[in-house]
Amino acid sequence: MESIALFWHRRDLRLSDNAGLYKALKSGNRIQPVFVFDTTILNRLPKNDQRVIFIHQAIQRLKDQYASFGSDLLVRLGDPVEVIPQLVSELKAVAVFTNRDYEPDAIQRDRTVAEKLNALNCEFVGAKDHVIFEKNEVLKSDGKPYTVYTPYSRKWKEILTDFYTKSYPIESYIATLRCCETEDIERLLSLEEIGFSSQQTQEFPAALVSDELLNRYHETRDIPSINGTSRLSLHLRFGTVSIRYLVRQALQSNPTFLNELIWRDFYQCILFHFPHSVHSSFKPQYDNIQWEYDERQFQAWCEGKTGYPLVDAGMRELNTTGFMHNRVRMVVASFLTKHLLHDWRLGERYFAEKLLDFDLAANVGGWQWAAGSGCDAAPYFRVFNPTSQQEKFDPKFEYIKKWVPEFGTDKYPQPIVEHKFARERCLERYKRAL
Ligand code: FAD
Repeated sequence: MESIALFWHRRDLRLSDNAGLYKALKSGNRIQPVFVFDTTILNRLPKNDQRVIFIHQAIQRLKDQYASFGSDLLVRLGDPVEVIPQLVSELKAVAVFTNRDYEPDAIQRDRTVAEKLNALNCEFVGAKDHVIFEKNEVLKSDGKPYTVYTPYSRKWKEILTDFYTKSYPIESYIATLRCCETEDIERLLSLEEIGFSSQQTQEFPAALVSDELLNRYHETRDIPSINGTSRLSLHLRFGTVSIRYLVRQALQSNPTFLNELIWRDFYQCILFHFPHSVHSSFKPQYDNIQWEYDERQFQAWCEGKTGYPLVDAGMRELNTTGFMHNRVRMVVASFLTKHLLHDWRLGERYFAEKLLDFDLAANVGGWQWAAGSGCDAAPYFRVFNPTSQQEKFDPKFEYIKKWVPEFGTDKYPQPIVEHKFARERCLERYKRAL
């Protein structure tokens, strides 16, 4: 009898160029793929969460692809810490393969799963798929992790070889998938059956970027009114596109785009080495800052009614589409933390709820960067002036008019805080804390 192993999909909702799946298929076992709708995460989400719809569609595509190879993706609903060992017992699996996840909660979950599998004499095997370099692969000469982006990226580029970007050709080993008769293919639970609405209110971006866009990326990436960035963040988050493929594309087309992909690796590494940064300031003295909290001001920020049109356009783009342009993310985050002096964790949690591409590492990294408390952050005395940012990046108010149609009329609110006052208050408050 052939031995069976599971391949557990998580942040890698694709078949092609999937490192962990490749490793599993080559292991000599019959591979049974599985995905778990994790109720410990789902239970915290609103019932119309668009990310669940995105995942559901990706899972249906995966099931169809597996079916075309004569196999099936098993989909379960529950706590993976219970579900995975249960499936192992049912199928008498000898191993579970998966791609590594670097978030603190995921690391803890995997540790628990590994312990339970160990008791069942089943191996738990991880692979690197989500990033180009992980954990301790890019270190300073003293063996410590980098905490500043520029030297990190220099080292990243120095050690990069074709080996790290080559694709994993799973097609060559597809015959080792566990077979399934067509009539035995399980129906995918509907969104309603897992407690969610199937009403899609937001359009999802495509999982590819044209060479034409990438060739001009360095000129277009800071202009929020045009489609000048890849819009791949959602796909990178859920692994519906391969980071190795994108890095190969970036190497051929645009060094600026490559640098952004390296920021992504950098923040994943920071999260792995400094998990405390999810809840505390990376630089501890920043936790001495005495934050304000004003419900009305915070609501005005959330709703895009601050009277600063670039901030308001960004927040309304976020609330409507689940996306916000990077330049504007920096402006709204700086506005909340420095102009309104609200704790960066409030903004981070609001983004976490709303962003389709929400990714803990990049989000915490971005928020701590804006607040000045992060590893390689904007210095605290650099307080973005939202008006100069608008003059520079949306001089003809094109982006603003799209999202704030009442701008320029009596209906548009007055600024909720005066820039000069806010800047001085911020400098004084930060200086006192540091
Ligand atoms: P592109 O400009 O086309 O970049 C390509 C890819 O590079 C992105 O998809 C992303 O994976 C990566 N990337 C680009 N910039 C960054 C960056 N600064 N840090 C890390 N990775 C980067 N990105 C997220 O993916 N999830 C988040 O939750 C998130 N929260 C953010 C919060 C704040 C306050 C800020 C300032 C930035 C945040 N970012 C986040 C980073 C960045 O804004 C988005 O990755 C980017 O806007 C996504 O659009 P794009 O795919 O068109 O990016």
